[in-house]
Amino acid sequence: MSKSKPYRNIRSAVIHGGIYGDEQTGAVNTPVYLTSTYQQESLGQHKGWEYSRTGNPTRAALESLIAELEGGTAGFAFASGMAATTAALSLFASGDRIVISNNVYGGTFRVLDKVFKNFQINYTIADSSDLDALETALTPEVKAILIESPANPLLTITDIAAVAELAHARGILLIVDNTFMTPYLQRPLELGADIVLHSATKYLGGHSDVIAGLIAVKSAELAERLHFIQNATGGILQPLDSFLLIRSIKTLGVRMDRHVENAEQLAAALCGHQAVRKVHYPGLTTAPGYEVNRKQAANGGAMITFELQEGYDAGRFFSGLRMVALAESLGGVESLACHPASMTHASIPKEIRKQVGISDELIRLSVGIEDINDITADISAAIEAAQL
Ligand SMILES: *Cc1c(COP(=O)(O)O)cnc(C)c1O
Repeated sequence: MSKSKPYRNIRSAVIHGGIYGDEQTGAVNTPVYLTSTYQQESLGQHKGWEYSRTGNPTRAALESLIAELEGGTAGFAFASGMAATTAALSLFASGDRIVISNNVYGGTFRVLDKVFKNFQINYTIADSSDLDALETALTPEVKAILIESPANPLLTITDIAAVAELAHARGILLIVDNTFMTPYLQRPLELGADIVLHSATKYLGGHSDVIAGLIAVKSAELAERLHFIQNATGGILQPLDSFLLIRSIKTLGVRMDRHVENAEQLAAALCGHQAVRKVHYPGLTTAPGYEVNRKQAANGGAMITFELQEGYDAGRFFSGLRMVALAESLGGVESLACHPASMTHASIPKEIRKQVGISDELIRLSVGIEDINDITADISAAIEAAQL
């Protein structure tokens, strides 16, 4: 990272960033180092690699890439997004409290509620899009705020820079799960966040074929602590998966451009559809978070959530899809549709779901990079089939 780079734009950084190629052979791609251990020349003398849980050159190339893309100084790769989240939450100790936004990923809520709570690391749920409500939740035992923007599934926007200010005024950490935007569209560390998390399973992987998680940080102290946790707890990403992610990230720019272009067109089409009651998309000028999002991100991303009018059934909608797949997950090249209440957010109790506006009628779309006319035609046909 110290060496000055021969490019300035993230469109080039996704291709040339991090540790690029292989110095030894000139190969333009980082080799896959399928090795668990490394031969040492003599006691205490080695080339910087000892054991692949601690460090592996292929993983290190990916880790330096995510650090560079997010504008951090260090990156860490994990076996899943949840392993990355778990590592970040392992920074805290019993008696600490984490404030999470009311729309965080269901698995993030679950690990706090069912695992970390057993170790007396507690959580408070707050509406992070409302800074006053968030501030009220910041009691003295709170050590971190964990947010997503846009947040799943209503695509609620939180002002990242403003929350960073609130956090830093109290000397606590801001953790941002940037899965929905990727560093191509939004860079939370540059907005003041301390830790950025990713489910790289989604847009960074982009092809629905790898489960992976990434972290990027700015501070050397956090980097050291997270590397300690990564090595101590061992939830690392394997070399082959690290290679696949590096390969995928090279096309992140072109993929995101198409994802967003398609999402903007589909959101406009849904807004004009007589069978659609409400469209949640932060790229719409009418969206409640539009102005804040525009300030902190390149555009509204490519996730759209919508509700059908009365007289239309969500179950029938999903059965009516032919090209768009009914599936969990998001961020792949193919368009996916899901039902948050019974799928991604099923681990959140129904009362809490209701409180935060996740109705049984919500439909979430991960808009892929197929031809927009094919996507629109499939969605329109499914809406027609949904009529009772
Ligand atoms: C999918 C997801 C996760 C969890 O990541 P896995 O790779 O499935 O473990 C975390 N946060 C968000 C926003 C996600 O969409």
